[in-house]
Amino acid sequence: MSVKINENYLLLENSYLFIEIARRVEEFQEKNPNSDIIRMGIGDVTKPLTSTVIKAFKNAVDEMGDEKTFMGYGPEQGYSFLAEAIIKNDFEPLGIDLSVDEVFISDGSKCDTGNIQEIFGLDNKVAVTDPVYPVYVDTNVMAGRTGNINDKGMYEGLIYLPCTKENDFVPELPKENVDIIYLCFPNNPTGTTLTKDQLAKFIDYAKENNALILFDAAYERFITENNVPHSIYEIEGAKEVAIEFRSFSKTAGFTGARCAYTIVPKELKAFDSENNPQSVNKLWNRRQTTKFNGVSYPVQRAAEATYSKDGKRELEENIDYYMKNAKIIRESLSKIGLDVYGGINSPYIWVKTPKNMDSWEFFDFLLNETNVVGTPGAGFGPSGEGYLRLTAFNTLENTKKAMKRISDLSF
Ligand SMILES: *Cc1c(COP(=O)(O)O)cnc(C)c1O
Repeated sequence: MSVKINENYLLLENSYLFIEIARRVEEFQEKNPNSDIIRMGIGDVTKPLTSTVIKAFKNAVDEMGDEKTFMGYGPEQGYSFLAEAIIKNDFEPLGIDLSVDEVFISDGSKCDTGNIQEIFGLDNKVAVTDPVYPVYVDTNVMAGRTGNINDKGMYEGLIYLPCTKENDFVPELPKENVDIIYLCFPNNPTGTTLTKDQLAKFIDYAKENNALILFDAAYERFITENNVPHSIYEIEGAKEVAIEFRSFSKTAGFTGARCAYTIVPKELKAFDSENNPQSVNKLWNRRQTTKFNGVSYPVQRAAEATYSKDGKRELEENIDYYMKNAKIIRESLSKIGLDVYGGINSPYIWVKTPKNMDSWEFFDFLLNETNVVGTPGAGFGPSGEGYLRLTAFNTLENTKKAMKRISDLSF
């Protein structure tokens, strides 16, 4: 006898995207030591935590050092002070009623979107949009819901819903019966959104097919247009068929501090093998209380501070700063005749490669000619081929400098 591995892990593709980008940039830098490289490929914020958040964070750390105010283990689901602030600020203004025990605070949406699948059976059919945030795919591969990856970069057994300029980045409803659908809007990597009506079609599909929608709203705070839903629960009946993931990472600069939350409505049911409805909220609660011990108290106090009057204003200023960059990117690239998508309700700009270059050719071209680093769209799935992602997470100066360099090119 010998210890056996979970062989599903052998099905995973090496996540070579960011490693390959780093390798090419390093090689370029060695050959061109004086080049001024501008990185516009990173999906991480660049602005620090705001002063109001830091003040709350520090106060809570001081409480931890005092016998009278020290906090040990907290509730696995998070403190009610934060859950209440979330409901009051993120949902009540949208006309959405939630109770505290439908809010599960965690240390990240990556973990939550990755972990959620384990409370559902292995024989569920799963659909993802393509291009896609790789976490949704890889965690289902690890669990054993797929077969091998084919030469197009698609896993057998997964349903891919293409989002390309041909369909205005609006995925079609699955043609076959699927049980679980991952949606991320505003989308990473394309930066595009769905209107309420477009999202409502997925709710209808889920209701008709007893399916579940896993809705990742990590970028909702970047929405500027009116008809774009901030929460899936703005759509009638969504509570019966959808889980929503939100994160303080991109909206409040918590990528290093770590705080997120997941909404699992009590109305939401999934079915056992005898077709009896079971509460998904109960299952997720059981999973979290068994495998997770909560987010640290100071981090939850820091997250709470994002909802204070000053905290909100500071956050808005940061988002406005990023969105100003996004506008500069969009307008500069459009002006020189490139097709650009996203960047209106999202910090991501999805650029169609010119002259039929593939994603990596365009990446190399920009690196060599302008020293600007993007992310090749092909790294996010087969339908990402022929696109490149740029991000607004940068300084205004660098954004302007990069766009000036690209504008001086001729295609
Ligand atoms: C950044 C991001 C998240 C947030 O992940 P955290 O673990 O909360 O930092 C979630 N979903 C998508 C699509 C993202 O790009």
